[in-house]
Amino acid sequence: MYSLQELYKIGNGPSSSHTMGPKKAALIFKAKYSNANRFIVHLYGSLALTGKGHLTDYIIKETLDNCLVLFDYKTETKHPNTLMIEGYLDDKFLGKMTFYSIGGGNILAEGEKEIKVKEVYKENSFLAIKEYLKENNLDLVSYVDSYESIDNYLKEVIGIMYSNIKNGLNKSGVLPGKLKVKRKARYIYFSKSESLLGDDFDKRKLMAYAYAVSEENASGGLVVTAPTCGACGVLPAIMFYLKEKYNTTLKEEINGLKVAGIIGNIVSYNASISGAYAGCQAEVGTATSMAAAYAAYILKGELLNIERAAEIALEHNLGLTCDPVEGYVQIPCIERNALGALRALDSAILALYIDAKEAKISFDTVVMTMLETGLSLPRSLKETSEGGLAKNYKEVKDESK
Ligand code: SF4
Repeated sequence: MYSLQELYKIGNGPSSSHTMGPKKAALIFKAKYSNANRFIVHLYGSLALTGKGHLTDYIIKETLDNCLVLFDYKTETKHPNTLMIEGYLDDKFLGKMTFYSIGGGNILAEGEKEIKVKEVYKENSFLAIKEYLKENNLDLVSYVDSYESIDNYLKEVIGIMYSNIKNGLNKSGVLPGKLKVKRKARYIYFSKSESLLGDDFDKRKLMAYAYAVSEENASGGLVVTAPTCGACGVLPAIMFYLKEKYNTTLKEEINGLKVAGIIGNIVSYNASISGAYAGCQAEVGTATSMAAAYAAYILKGELLNIERAAEIALEHNLGLTCDPVEGYVQIPCIERNALGALRALDSAILALYIDAKEAKISFDTVVMTMLETGLSLPRSLKETSEGGLAKNYKEVKDESK
């Protein structure tokens, strides 16, 4: 598996696969064809269908001067997030490259093996990690430390996550885009309206934190993929909430991110963290699983409790579709991050109470199931905005005109 730095990427929202990945592809192309002074970029599949709402064309034009971006809705490609870049020196064609944006800001270039990121971890499944820990008398945190020194980077990650929460809670107004969605983090946090179910401030805070980060993402702010931009609100919300409640130290937070990172890495390596490839179960499902593992670790769970928390959280997101309305990472994405945070905490609590040794379903089994489920979801429900909420929203809107 790859470094946790590949999972927790720092970059601008709103979408790791639709902005961070294409930007990286454009930079690689620009470096390879440094004499090009004109570019044509073709977007295919989900990049074409939701590229406008996800700001794909905007970020490419920001990266490549004198660039024409073409949206190709018809051509079928190997990967749902494909882009092809052509470079020219005036009228002379210099070359072209095809890239796949595979999720979490990672890309693969067709036929270019050298872009593949170096693997850092030898073990690629939770089972293999468990066996390794047992043989070497290690825990998950020392396991990560034995492969990479990442504390300083994770410190930076935490700083960005928490500033997203603070900034998001301080803002009001409308998010960019034609949906005119109002920011709600501040309202949820400060709302004085009477509670229907006793004291619900704890839950409201947790949701408000997730809203704050996701709203920062939706407005193009600097965020951390955890594991993607679309799902970047879940883990920071859990972290900030537990920090307030249990005074978690920076060291504990860094270690918690290592534990959550291993969970995200296993999903990313063996299945997918791309909504266009496997639906939202791969994005918010994985984020919820990572956050549940984080919470189980902070709440002093053992290795099996951590596995169980991650497994419960992902299992109950199986089948979750990706159908962003008008292609914006706003509906259902922002609200879904808030619900993901609540579910992550519930999964951790459940995993700490039930006998984790009796689990019949392992984390690896759920990961495999998530991939199979994702592959059998129709294309219309995988970040194309052709089905689900996106389709019905459009139909109702068109009818009411
Ligand atoms: S529905 Fe989920 S996977 Fe799709 S764009 Fe929104 S957060 Fe990402």
